Amino acid sequence: MRHRKIVYISIFALATISLILAGIIWYGKNQELKVIFLDVGQGDAILISQGSNQILIDGGPDGQVLLEKLGRYVPFWDREIEMAIATHPDQDHIEGLLEVMKNYKIDALVEGAEQSESQLYKNYENLIAQKQIQKIEAEAGVKIKLNGAEMEILSPRAPVPTGAVKDTNAYSVVARLAFGQNSFLFTGDLPDTEEKKLAQSSVDLSAKVLKVAHHGSKYATTGEFLDAVHPSDAIISVGRNNRFGHPADEALARLKERKINIFRTDEKGDVIYECRNPDVRCQMAVN
Ligand SMILES: [Zn+2]
Repeated sequence: MRHRKIVYISIFALATISLILAGIIWYGKNQELKVIFLDVGQGDAILISQGSNQILIDGGPDGQVLLEKLGRYVPFWDREIEMAIATHPDQDHIEGLLEVMKNYKIDALVEGAEQSESQLYKNYENLIAQKQIQKIEAEAGVKIKLNGAEMEILSPRAPVPTGAVKDTNAYSVVARLAFGQNSFLFTGDLPDTEEKKLAQSSVDLSAKVLKVAHHGSKYATTGEFLDAVHPSDAIISVGRNNRFGHPADEALARLKERKINIFRTDEKGDVIYECRNPDVRCQMAVN
């Protein structure tokens, strides 16, 4: 009897292992693209996932909050984030990335050349060096290939000055993700002056979903830029009762005038786009 019991147990164990493996293989072959604007308070963090591959744009202001969010959307066995993109070195965009670097293996980090004088930034750069994370300089024209989708960096377009820069927002990484008829534009904290340069260039800014620049500050989201992007939906990543008064009434009015749907993370929580098919519009949900 004892012998039979061992056989049963080993068959059961084998079945369990093969189920887990099947789950992993199936997960790896899944082409569905998800874009999740995480509610991380006053800051930005956006998770793009396809199968077991993840791209994280910014880390928000709080590492623990971000880890909790990643725990919700990244399978427990997947301790690898294939790529992180830091739009610019402000606290509300990079602080959370430190905890991610400590808890996940980040394969590559895309960031602009601009540097900050802050202690946080020094700690962040030290950690990147210590973890030997491969760096890719963000500049217009850099393309990131996904399965059936592509992300292109649209800005910064001009060389970034060397040394610490005062207006880090101006060098925000702007990226456009296209998956068939679905498209997303990520803008970091880009100010109106830079929006204007992009809008007047020949760059294709068109996107169904716009991540509104600078948490809905009145110094961004100009009419000219909105007309060039022509989004259906606008996501504002913003903290409840934040001390900056974001989003500004002026920016909200410009969106409303154009009948653009507004989704704020302080009101909706995480805003999730599930894109199953390049020819079909992504499904939106909140969590
Ligand atoms: Zn910001």
